[in-house]
Amino acid sequence: MRNDDASPGSSPLPAFAGRPAGRVCGRLAPSPTGLLHLGNAWAFLLAWLAARADGGRVVLRMEDIDPDRSRPEFARAAMRDLVWLGLDWDEGPDRGGPNGPYVQSGRGDAYAAALAALSAMGRTYPCFCTRKELRGLAAAPHAEDGSPVYPGTCRNLSPARRAEFERQGRRPCLRLRCEDGEAEAFTDLVAGPRRMTLLECGGDFALRRSDGVVAYQLAVVVDDAAMGVTQAVRGDDILSSTPRQLLLHRLLGLRPPSYAHIPLVLDAAGERLAKRHGSLTLAALRDAGVSPRAVAGYLAFRAGLLDVPGRIAPAELVSGFSFAAIPRAPVVLPEDIADILVHLS
Ligand code: GLU
Repeated sequence: MRNDDASPGSSPLPAFAGRPAGRVCGRLAPSPTGLLHLGNAWAFLLAWLAARADGGRVVLRMEDIDPDRSRPEFARAAMRDLVWLGLDWDEGPDRGGPNGPYVQSGRGDAYAAALAALSAMGRTYPCFCTRKELRGLAAAPHAEDGSPVYPGTCRNLSPARRAEFERQGRRPCLRLRCEDGEAEAFTDLVAGPRRMTLLECGGDFALRRSDGVVAYQLAVVVDDAAMGVTQAVRGDDILSSTPRQLLLHRLLGLRPPSYAHIPLVLDAAGERLAKRHGSLTLAALRDAGVSPRAVAGYLAFRAGLLDVPGRIAPAELVSGFSFAAIPRAPVVLPEDIADILVHLS
C-alpha cells in the first residue's frame, strides 16, 4: 500500500522512533480553528475506522500551525468531541507517545531542518509577490482546485531586484522550485490511480509564509513521516495537495503514507460546512439532545456501511469497514438533518 518510489533511509531528518511494523498507522489531524462539525466527524470517523479495521494504530495530531486562527480552547473542544463521538487514539497531545510533540506549534525545529535540507538542494527561493499581485493574475492558468498557477515571477530574481524588494521592506515567502514537467503518480484508496503534474497543482508552492509560519504542505509531510503515519484519510478538497506532499516526501527521502480522499459533506444548498453552520457542530447537536451513536449511525449509513441510519458506536462498525463502500460523490445533507439526528437519538 505504500508508495515505493521513496528512498527511505537517506533522509536528512530524524526518523520516527518506531513502533511494531506491519500495521496501518492512521491519523486524526484537526485544525483547532473552530468547533468540529458533521463534516469533520465524517472525515475523522472514516479515518479512525480505516485504521482500526486493519488492527492499526491512531495518532491524534493537533494542526495548530496557524497562530492567527488556532485557539487552545478549540483544541480542547476537538478532543472532547472526538471522545464523545466514540473515537480514541494511541498517541496524541494528551497521551504522549514516542514521536511527539503531537501539536504542530511545538515542532518548529523539525520544520526548520526540512526547510534547510530543501534549501541546500537548491529547491527553494524567496518570493516577494504580494497577495494582491497574485490575485491580479485572474487571466493566468488555474490549477485543478481553481487557484491561480504561480507564474514563477520570483524564480530567477537578480540579486539587484531582490535587494530592491528587501529595501522596500517586503517580506518574502519561501517557495519550492518545481522542475518542468515534474509529476507524481499515486493510487488513492478511494479515488483510484492518479497522475498529476505539479503545474496542475498550482506550480511552485509556498513552504513558509511571508510571516514566517511554516506552510501546511511542509508541516504535514514532516509530521506524517516523523510520526510513522502510513495512511492519511482526508477530504477530497485536498487531493491536489497530494502530489506536492509526495514530491516533498521524495525530496526529503521520507516514506509517504497511502492516501484516501473521501467526498466532502455539503449542506442542502451544496455548500461546504463552515462556521455559519453553527447548528451542525457536534457541540450544538449534543446540546440539542443528539446522541453520538445517532451521529455515527447516520454517517455510517451515508458511507455505505449501514443499510439504514441507525444508532451505533464506531467500535461496532470496525469489522464491516470497507473503502469500496464509500460514495464518490459529495455527501449532501438534508435540510432537516438536525431534526433527523434528534429523532434517531
Ligand atoms: N488539518 C487539516 C484539516 O483539518 C488536515 C489536513 C490533512 O489531513 O492532511 O483540513
